[in-house]
Amino acid sequence: MPSTFWSRWGARLAAVGLVASLACLALGASSLAAALVLASFAAACFSTKRSLNLQIGAGFVVGLAAGAATWWIPEGAKHMGAVDDTGWLFVRLLKMLVGPLVFLAIASGLARLGSTSSLGRMGAITFALYFSTMFVAVATGLIMVNLFEPGANTQLLSLPFFRGLLEQTTPAPAGTALGFREFVGDLLQNPLSALASPNPPILGLVFFGMLLGIALIRTGEQTRALREFIDSAYAVVLWMIGIFVRLAPLGVMAIVWSLVGSMASDGPRSGMTSMITAAREVGGFIALVFVATSIHAFVTLPAFAWFLAGLHPRRLLAGVSEALLVAFSTSSSAATLPVTTRNVEQNLGVPAHVTHFVLPLGATVNMDGTALYEAIAALFIAALFGMELSLGDQLTVFGMSMLMAAGAPAIPSAGMVTMVVVLQAVDLPAEAVALLIPLDRLLDTIRTMANVEGDAVVAVCVAGVTHGNEQMTAEDP
Ligand code: ASP
Repeated sequence: MPSTFWSRWGARLAAVGLVASLACLALGASSLAAALVLASFAAACFSTKRSLNLQIGAGFVVGLAAGAATWWIPEGAKHMGAVDDTGWLFVRLLKMLVGPLVFLAIASGLARLGSTSSLGRMGAITFALYFSTMFVAVATGLIMVNLFEPGANTQLLSLPFFRGLLEQTTPAPAGTALGFREFVGDLLQNPLSALASPNPPILGLVFFGMLLGIALIRTGEQTRALREFIDSAYAVVLWMIGIFVRLAPLGVMAIVWSLVGSMASDGPRSGMTSMITAAREVGGFIALVFVATSIHAFVTLPAFAWFLAGLHPRRLLAGVSEALLVAFSTSSSAATLPVTTRNVEQNLGVPAHVTHFVLPLGATVNMDGTALYEAIAALFIAALFGMELSLGDQLTVFGMSMLMAAGAPAIPSAGMVTMVVVLQAVDLPAEAVALLIPLDRLLDTIRTMANVEGDAVVAVCVAGVTHGNEQMTAEDP
């Protein structure tokens, strides 16, 4: 609910800000104009009673329009500082809470389970579901790519831009991300330094949170005070998330604006040209990734939630739509985690001890969109280089895509880095990853959405399987 001040003055302030920004633009003060547009949009959001969802959607559309509009602004006057900073700030705010959220959520979630045997059961169901959803995702990707064969007739490798990319890029050596010591080293972290890190190692926090949760179960009454402290700290973090989520419309708008704005180095013509050239040459591949991911997001995942938890697809998608929009714009499941947790608990009624366990772990391990993408991309690259992949090779791609997606950190473009290992597993040139770089920001948006939706669906299903369907079917449309 907007406060009295904002409901009375917000819309007027927004209108004045917009007029002032047009005046600034006419005078060549484009950085001030951009800052005024951001402030006007924020004032409009604070003053409206419309749902947060709608506001985020509006932020997306305004960001798109403003980004395209910057193509017409002469290079010298184009200062996107305020826009870039706003997007960056929003992501930083969310990331700030990820470390404490993961750690507190897991520890308090496990402690609430009350016994280690219920933990074992929930863990087994959760991992079975992570595996099943990723398995179906990769299968969908591979079936689609074999049916439509994108990349079979493109001239991509003869375009100077892509050729240049291939020559310049030295990919990360395969395997460095998944060496035994690196993996175990990630897991066994000093929790205090892990919490203090600007990019908290989620697996390490998950592991320590689990250890602490189990210790709290085992020590029972003796550690009741610590359990209550952890629960209270978690409530504080959730309150902060509620505040930051209110800023999502502005954050989404700023991120989309600077992304679209940066596509033109030389006015509208170059913005259009770079979009059209890329679209023509790789359009089939992009469309295939979109369609396959959509099948997974709109058919497969809702089917899981419906069959295993009785949750109507419309309720599922409406319930997680805020998280999906934030995932789309941040391209990071980890940064989206606070919003996912809020949506799944508040809108879908999944009990806290389930979300606390399933969501933080799922954010790093369960990556349906990434697995599906890596499989399609590997076959696309094989086709570009004119290489036939045998059934055995395709099965290797199948397994490696799942493994590498599970091993990818929940940050932007992580899937593209682990992709190198998938390519090398079937003797494809690892440098070919460079071809995907210009497309990655675009494709990362939807694969992160599928990753986040997959986590939410697994949480819903675990709740459905372990607690029955009551709380989720109650308000079906
Ligand atoms: N950006 C994805 C995520 O955070 C990971 C990826 O690059 O595929 O979920």
